[in-house]
Amino acid sequence: MNHEKLKEIQEARPAHVTLVAVSKTRTKEEIDEAYAAGCTVFGENKVQEIVRKHDPRYHWHMIGHLQRNKVRQVLPLVDMIQSLDSLSLAKEIEKQAAKIDKKMAVLVEVNISQETNKSGITAEETMDFIDICRREFPHIEVQGLMCVGPNTGDTKRIEACFEQMHQLYMQAQERFGDSIRWLSMGMSADWKLAVQHGSNMVRIGSDIFGPRQYDTQ
Ligand SMILES: *Cc1c(COP(=O)(O)O)cnc(C)c1O
Repeated sequence: MNHEKLKEIQEARPAHVTLVAVSKTRTKEEIDEAYAAGCTVFGENKVQEIVRKHDPRYHWHMIGHLQRNKVRQVLPLVDMIQSLDSLSLAKEIEKQAAKIDKKMAVLVEVNISQETNKSGITAEETMDFIDICRREFPHIEVQGLMCVGPNTGDTKRIEACFEQMHQLYMQAQERFGDSIRWLSMGMSADWKLAVQHGSNMVRIGSDIFGPRQYDTQ
């Protein structure tokens, strides 16, 4: 892993911004090394990887598309599901969380860039979606919003998406109160820009661990 880069991120990150170290494709040894260097929250996008690497000393966030048939398995292992992207998934989370008497913290994933290969609900649907979750699923706590920025080098376009997310986040806070407290956006390439636009949770993989050999998403 890149200790210098991690230190740089830790120093540049404002205190209110939570760093999620994205450890997909990394070994448990690499994760332990990052933990020793100060990372405490790890993001994974595959259930099998969370099951394989899970360590109760660390916090784990599910950040990738979650299939309904894997909810039961992953639920006890994670502190947050950042990728709630459909009502059918919410229904299954509710069902399984009720069984183990857990209130599951989730973020609603918004496909802000409207790229067809990305998961997430639309910006227009977001308020109603949160409203339904709050009314119908007592074992789910919607704590905020998550997005993946557009896949482009066009800074203006990235900023426009981040700004739209920030507006949506503030709107959700206004309507649903302080339970909405996380805006998860920004990855290795764009996290500083995301923080400038109100992100308080950044998900950084390659800048901490080095380039991935293969990409799973
Ligand atoms: C892989 C991934 C990241 C981290 O990406 P990097 O470019 O390696 O920092 C963040 N969020 C999600 C949802 C991811 O799948």
